[in-house]
Amino acid sequence: MSEPTTLTTLTTWKHFIGGRWVEPAAGEYFDSTDPATGRTLYRAARGTAADIDKAVAAARAAFEDPGWRDLSQTRRGHLLRRLGELVAENADELALMESRDNGKLLREMRGQLASLPEYFHYYAGLADKIHGETVPTSDRAVLNYTAREPLGVVGAITPWNSPLTLTTSKLAPALCAGNTVVVKPSEYTSASGLRLAELALEAGFPPGVVNVVTGYGAEAGGPLVDHEDLAKISFTGSTATGSKIAASAAGRFIGSTLELGGKSPQIVFEDADVPNAAMGVIAGVFAAAGQTCIAGSRVFAHRSVYEELLERVCERAKSIRIGDPLDEATELGPLAFEAQRDKVAAYVDLGREEGARVLTGGAPTDGGTGGCFYEPTVLVDVDNSMRVVREEIFGPVVAIMPFDTEDEVVGLANDTEYGLAAGIWTTNLSRAHRVAGRLDAGTVWVNTYRAMSPMSPRQGFKASGVGVEHGTETIKEYTRLKSVWINT
Ligand code: NAD
Repeated sequence: MSEPTTLTTLTTWKHFIGGRWVEPAAGEYFDSTDPATGRTLYRAARGTAADIDKAVAAARAAFEDPGWRDLSQTRRGHLLRRLGELVAENADELALMESRDNGKLLREMRGQLASLPEYFHYYAGLADKIHGETVPTSDRAVLNYTAREPLGVVGAITPWNSPLTLTTSKLAPALCAGNTVVVKPSEYTSASGLRLAELALEAGFPPGVVNVVTGYGAEAGGPLVDHEDLAKISFTGSTATGSKIAASAAGRFIGSTLELGGKSPQIVFEDADVPNAAMGVIAGVFAAAGQTCIAGSRVFAHRSVYEELLERVCERAKSIRIGDPLDEATELGPLAFEAQRDKVAAYVDLGREEGARVLTGGAPTDGGTGGCFYEPTVLVDVDNSMRVVREEIFGPVVAIMPFDTEDEVVGLANDTEYGLAAGIWTTNLSRAHRVAGRLDAGTVWVNTYRAMSPMSPRQGFKASGVGVEHGTETIKEYTRLKSVWINT
């Protein structure tokens, strides 16, 4: 293939359809910018409905008889394993690509890349274990059995904050179950998904099994969601977009898996190891400059440890080193693009108007590299009625509030439209189990935060999502169940 495979300045990326690089139908491209420097990094194809048509047709053709759907499940597993190996072999390049594209720290990306092959290997191991069962109905004269079948063409739409991991969370189980896929990455981070598709071809996946169309949400994502030949849509992104996608999918009776926004609470009880909890709060909200769906952005500290926690969090927040994400010493990189930095700044200003006090941070900066950074920010004198406490900011901003009783804090933590994740800091095991059971959150961490594995299913509750990703459970989202009755 003559197309560029590394991310160099002003590389031009076309769509990846049917195993080939394809010019956008409208002939248009858009720029993608390095948020750490503000410089244009590459150009990507501006996809439209015509490109989506091509990609879905390629995916459909690859799925159809005799094709991908009929490949042995063992062989599917081998291909997934090989793709995991290729991701590992190309980890340095992929880490650098994503770090430059969305501003994530290079060392954080290296960490992500170290575990990413596990996702492919996990689903490689599951590929030959998808099967139905015989069902003992009351009629002994008939044999009833079930079969788990692939769905067809799956659309995967992803956001910009963790493109490789989030694409893999959809791609690996969808392929494991025998589907073909059309990926539409975020317009802010188009490159790594294209490179992943190229690696899938190299791994031996037949052309058309993995396709990528880049472009904007309404122009490229919309036509994918609405495509009549789409069998399922798997989406990660904001709750607002997820709601539109869910409506479109429901209207056409296709399934949707939706991983959406969050405003996750972290609860620090009076019996917590406070220094440890303070570090957990810091990592929970400031990692990736706060641009993670699971950011623990609402912190409730028992009144007896509130001042100590505040002091520790603020002291550390002030010392966080902001700068070039490629520098090993940097602890906080930029927001992924300028509008996101402005959104964060507007929220902090709104917080001030609502009566919040900024204990540390509270200002944008260019990070010394000409990029779009925002200082790690701690807000106090806040409560659940304020928009800074209720709405997802998706930046390095944490609101810290005191509480007095367990019942009170469970109520406060659950008083949100979201239900993605929660953290509990306590040395009391009974309390840990009790409160974990009472929180309306799909993932609860106790004395840790952010732990994740392809083996562990995760689901957003309430406005944080529908359906399960990861684990064996997600295979059900990518298969349909057929019941066969045979009169013996
Ligand atoms: P977004 O909803 O703006 O965009 C996500 C994707 O959807 C992009 O690829 C975008 O181009 C596309 N899109 C936008 N409008 C569309 C439309 N009308 N039809 C089809 N596609 C459309 O979200 P974002 O700003 O890129 O990402 C941040 C959000 O993602 C946050 O809310 C965050 O919490 C959420 N997120 C959730 C999880 C999770 O696992 N729950 C993980 C990461 C991010």
